[in-house]
Amino acid sequence: MPKTYRCAFCGKSFPQGTGLMYVKNDGTIYWFCSSKCRKSLLKLRRDARKFKWTVYHGREEKRE
Ligand SMILES: [Zn+2]
Repeated sequence: MPKTYRCAFCGKSFPQGTGLMYVKNDGTIYWFCSSKCRKSLLKLRRDARKFKWTVYHGREEKRE
């Protein structure tokens, strides 16, 4: 089984070697399945819950 990562924006998983890695200055690592997702989160600061093509679409924030 190849290792898979979960996209930080759309939430879909993708196999190691196909995505994009981004490391923030504070050391946080983000994985993205595509440059579309990378741009959406880092440049456009989009909310994934507002986009139909993410697994978070329509989800409420979790309340503990
Ligand atoms: Zn993605």
